[in-house]
Amino acid sequence: MIGDPVRHSLSPVIHNAAFSAGGIDWVYVAFAVPAGRACDALAAMRILDIAGLSVTMPHKAGVLAGLDEVSDEASALGAANTVYRRGSRLIGDNTDGYGFIRALREEQGLEVEGLRCVVVGAGGAARAVVYGLHRHGAGQVIVVNRTPARATEAAALGGAVGRVGKHGDIAHADLVVNATPVGMGVGSGAEYPFDPQLLGPGQVLVDLVYQPPETPLLAIAAARGARVMNGLSMLLYQAARQFELWTGQSAPLAAMRSAVRISPPENPQAH
Ligand code: NAP
Repeated sequence: MIGDPVRHSLSPVIHNAAFSAGGIDWVYVAFAVPAGRACDALAAMRILDIAGLSVTMPHKAGVLAGLDEVSDEASALGAANTVYRRGSRLIGDNTDGYGFIRALREEQGLEVEGLRCVVVGAGGAARAVVYGLHRHGAGQVIVVNRTPARATEAAALGGAVGRVGKHGDIAHADLVVNATPVGMGVGSGAEYPFDPQLLGPGQVLVDLVYQPPETPLLAIAAARGARVMNGLSMLLYQAARQFELWTGQSAPLAAMRSAVRISPPENPQAH
């Protein structure tokens, strides 16, 4: 992994558990790489014969310039979170949208086709979710964000079904996603990213935050009758996709799940 900071990342725990369970003699390590040096890290990857990379802040955009090929998704988002090899070529991809859609499918039994969706936030995570929702046939993808210009950019990733909205849209949504860091804990300022009274039965609320596992928003949304899911499952499934791209093998989900202590879904047959 390259990023800065990387010290608190869960990715080494997840991927080392996966390599161990998959019988792969690899190790996953986190390198703190200063801003602006992503292409130097790619050059090191080539010469050291490193099999793959996770890419995190602040390198998700900067890494694109040093790659031989970029997936449609990473290109549309202007950000890669994964680098893998095909022969001597380095290919960039973005697995966050895949992780989000698969988490909803496997943990909630939810397909997004036709759903009215509101995404709160317009940063990297929100953009991946908006793009993923659009690509999987969501009926509406409405972006609500503090800074309007960023909302407009993110909503464009929703294609014909994407638009900028306001907090009132949350009350009429089937699926609501918090893609802001509000709720991450002490010092983050506001307790809720929007008024939780807008949520109720019949809605699904996903908080992309996973530390803490239960944010104030998740707690109150559940108390108000919404179905809720935190960000750990998206983290798990985006990592599973990375594992598959790097190794060509299917991901050992049970080991990866227990590495981050996520309870299995109620219907394990789904796996
Ligand atoms: P980011 O690029 O910095 O974007 C943050 C977004 O949140 C921006 O749109 C920002 O609004 C908004 N925001 C920040 N503070 C706010 C506040 N106090 N009130 C209202 N809006 C606020 O961050 P990111 O990479 O997208 O990550 C967002 C969250 O998702 C983080 O908590 C991160 O841990 C989580 N995440 C989870 C996963 C997963 O796998 N579960 C993956 C990626 C990220 P402005 O545009 O107005 O600044």
